[in-house]
Amino acid sequence: MSLPSPFADAASHHPRTAADGAAALSVADAPALSTVAAMSRARPPRHLADLDEAGRAGWLAELGHRPFRARQLSHHYFANLTADPVVMTDLPAGQRAELVAQTMPRLLTLVDERRTDRGATVKSLWRLAGGAAVESVLMDYPDRTTLCVSCQAGCGMGCPFCATGTLGLVRNLSAGEILDQVRIAAAATRDGTLAAGPRRLTNVVFMGMGEPMANYRAVIVAVKGIAAPPPAGFGISARNITVSTCGIVPGIDRLAGEGIPVRLALSLHAPDDHLRDTLVPVNRRYPVGAVLDAAKRYYSATGRRVSIEYALIRDINDQEWRATALGAELRRRGTGWAHVNPIGLNPVPGSRWTASRPDVADAFARRLRAAGIATTVRDTRGADIDGACGQLAAEGSRDHG
Ligand code: SF4
Repeated sequence: MSLPSPFADAASHHPRTAADGAAALSVADAPALSTVAAMSRARPPRHLADLDEAGRAGWLAELGHRPFRARQLSHHYFANLTADPVVMTDLPAGQRAELVAQTMPRLLTLVDERRTDRGATVKSLWRLAGGAAVESVLMDYPDRTTLCVSCQAGCGMGCPFCATGTLGLVRNLSAGEILDQVRIAAAATRDGTLAAGPRRLTNVVFMGMGEPMANYRAVIVAVKGIAAPPPAGFGISARNITVSTCGIVPGIDRLAGEGIPVRLALSLHAPDDHLRDTLVPVNRRYPVGAVLDAAKRYYSATGRRVSIEYALIRDINDQEWRATALGAELRRRGTGWAHVNPIGLNPVPGSRWTASRPDVADAFARRLRAAGIATTVRDTRGADIDGACGQLAAEGSRDHG
């Protein structure tokens, strides 16, 4: 969803230590994706964050440690946001390094970092165990600080306008790999990485690389780890977590039954099957009507208003008649249960898909509002740093593949 720019002093605006799990490499150090294709599907090492509290205690016992060490380690990881054994002075000095090496192996290595919006947006490219690459984006707003996380390396859904879709699915992330994106961003936010100075990470959105419903188990473990109060988790309210989907109906229903009040974001992008079959190929399996019915069920089960995401693509899906059709589809299922977020597409370089003109976006939103649908036109954060999900990783693939 954006244009490329040179890597500007990557990873140097806010140096991180190896203990943060974020050693800075130059782009040239990154292994070529083509050479790591076989390795990149390798599973990551087991990590404390993959397990719930009981699981952590049991694992520590299996490793021959006192089970209460699990709570001490969890406190460092989730409350202090650190994986550095040096600062874990409540652990026996002779065991610290071994305990951390066994239970908090490094999962993410920082390959590149780009900043824009005057330091209010930071996009990070991470190398995973096995060599696959994922991204996360930290965005500061006046009233909140939001991290967009990836849940898969690549994505198998094949949406043609999406940089991640061009990669195909490389592999699922573990819960620990998702949670480590949050830990590192929360620590950096606390320590003043954003231009506004020290802040608190308040929101997490699963809108980076990958389809959350296609990696459901790890995503739910991660959601619980984000929401649980320390030391079980990071203590970010479930109401401030957004799980997106391109419309996997069984996943939406399963999430509705979890009893966790996260927000659901449905990437709709078209109100009619004819166009959506092309833009979001999974629509052939779960068509618009079925997806909107599931979204409404989610609202009924959780009381959380559903966000309808609509990437406005010039001359493809931005016609006013489509806004009217979308309004009618939503109204047919009731009022007040959905909020539409039209956002101009960040174009993938070389792609024929590009953003709608601002006046067309405004007209689209006006039509929706006239139909009584709550609508907020979103800005495209990171538009000069390849802000679209998957764009850095896709570019890395082109550069090094
Ligand atoms: S838009 Fe989302 S679901 Fe579609 S290919 Fe991209 S990451 Fe996957």
